[in-house]
Amino acid sequence: MPEIKIVPLGAGQDVGRSCIIVSLGGKNIMLDCGMHMGFNDERRFPYFGYITGGMSTLTEHIDCVIISHFHLDHCGALPYMSEMVGFEGPIYMTHPTKAICPILLEDYRKITVDRKGETDFFTSQMIKDCMKKVVAVNLHQTIHVDDELEIKAYYAGHVLGAAMFYMKVGSDSVLYTGDYNMTPDRHLGAAWVDKCRPSLLITESTYATTIRDSKRCRERDFLKKVHERIEDGGKVLIPVFALGRAQELCILLESYWDRMNLKVPIYFSTGLTNKATEYYKLFITWTNQKIKNTFVERNMFDFKHIKGFNRAYIENPGPMVVFATPGMLHGGLSLEIFKKWCTNEKNMIIMPGYCVAGTVGNKILSGMRKIELKPGQVVEIKMQVQYMSFSAHADAKGIMQLIRMCEPENVMLVHGEAVKMEFLASKINKELHLPCFKPANGETVTITTNPPITVDASMKLLSKHRQVAGTTPNPKRIKTIHGTVLIKGNSMQLMDQEEAMEELDIPKHELRFTSTVQVPNIHHTVATAELMQHLKKSLKSHNVSSTTDGSILIDSVLLRVQSSDDEEQKSVNVLVSWSLHDEDLGTNIMDLLKVGLPVRTS
Ligand SMILES: [Zn+2]
Repeated sequence: MPEIKIVPLGAGQDVGRSCIIVSLGGKNIMLDCGMHMGFNDERRFPYFGYITGGMSTLTEHIDCVIISHFHLDHCGALPYMSEMVGFEGPIYMTHPTKAICPILLEDYRKITVDRKGETDFFTSQMIKDCMKKVVAVNLHQTIHVDDELEIKAYYAGHVLGAAMFYMKVGSDSVLYTGDYNMTPDRHLGAAWVDKCRPSLLITESTYATTIRDSKRCRERDFLKKVHERIEDGGKVLIPVFALGRAQELCILLESYWDRMNLKVPIYFSTGLTNKATEYYKLFITWTNQKIKNTFVERNMFDFKHIKGFNRAYIENPGPMVVFATPGMLHGGLSLEIFKKWCTNEKNMIIMPGYCVAGTVGNKILSGMRKIELKPGQVVEIKMQVQYMSFSAHADAKGIMQLIRMCEPENVMLVHGEAVKMEFLASKINKELHLPCFKPANGETVTITTNPPITVDASMKLLSKHRQVAGTTPNPKRIKTIHGTVLIKGNSMQLMDQEEAMEELDIPKHELRFTSTVQVPNIHHTVATAELMQHLKKSLKSHNVSSTTDGSILIDSVLLRVQSSDDEEQKSVNVLVSWSLHDEDLGTNIMDLLKVGLPVRTS
């Protein structure tokens, strides 16, 4: 039996450091190559030694690498993997991901090496060399990695360029979602995949237990909170990723400021922002229809109220709203601003997305009010902390919707927390009756797949079926055909029962039921004739005839009146025999006879 083997090196019962190794039809594929924001030591990267055993390069073990989108928890370890551990094979990603990924990698490198002073990290040159190995793909384009392995990208929403990847070797296939969302937002569309029926669906499960309230409610809530703070003279900090939610929230605030005629400044930390806007312009086909339409008249990303941020503004008095990167407060400008503003209860921080364990963002969201921001320096957080899930991941409803959309044979949950996965896995078991796996990092799951079996159908059977069904077969409508399967050597043929018996030269066996019933008020000498008459009247749609030996035949049902020596007897015994396929008629006749014949009036 063919098998698919899967082992997560990262994102197994965890969020961050996504890296899943899939072995499919003899091919080994690495799905994502991310870093963990919660760690600063070797745990930030997947443990590639698991594959190489520390002895060789990855090239001989891995046929290709697929990157789902540009978030660092999905691509942050890529230059380390390809240039430092060593991988010469192809790396696949979409065009927008290929354009944006190196910028974020360089930004990440700068923070780590230049600011934190770490050595033993990948260099700018390594990022460039790594990107040379990247093959950019279009949506729905079938890519032949080699003679046997083919891959195809589908739109995932989430962030610009995010894709789900379908991969196939022979009859076995896997669909990997990366991060996705099933509802369109202000700047991107919803994920979509065709009914590709993969042997296995590997889906993210960040919001496995959440059914989120309507988007409109969340947006109204967000605007209300921001407005209240600035009216009170406070400052609002919104830590964001450079691309994605940032653009969405900017569009939201921009139109609100317009509508309410607000003058309080909104800033966006510069640098990546301008480039980000360029990318949205460049890859406008990846955004949603509304943006595509308005783009013709006005660039939705040219903001009137939102200005670039300067470090000097941190100390400015008075209210302001600031979007700053990075999103999880694990370093950079957002953390710097947070340190300055967190001790004032008038201020507020709004966390618009998920924060992985170990980050400052995660600490304040879990309710910690005293945080050691520098060794030996504990700060009391007085500013208000709000969590508003704007992050574009599918919720439980969306995940179930995607499963129904692609109809997989097995489901695997990654990129989520173990307890939440447990809840969703049992829901998938119960509602969709599908096996659901949730391996931890380093744990191998083996899935046995059922290879398809080809059976030739005989012309006789098909034409007989067509006569019954009437119409020409519709490939979209599955119909059941009954027949007999004959196995000859390596081939199998489905044929009509009669045909099969002829082919094998075997006689047909018939199963018959035989029973005796006592019919009251009738004399045996006239019984056959009277029964004949009565049955002809009662069973008008059937052919009632007599046989040469004096029995009555109705279809396959045979009746014979048993003679009696007792001339005085007022009832007769009738033997009734019928074949299996006339069971209804047989029992019907038995019931008729038990009641007896109607009393004659003449
Ligand atoms: Zn993501």
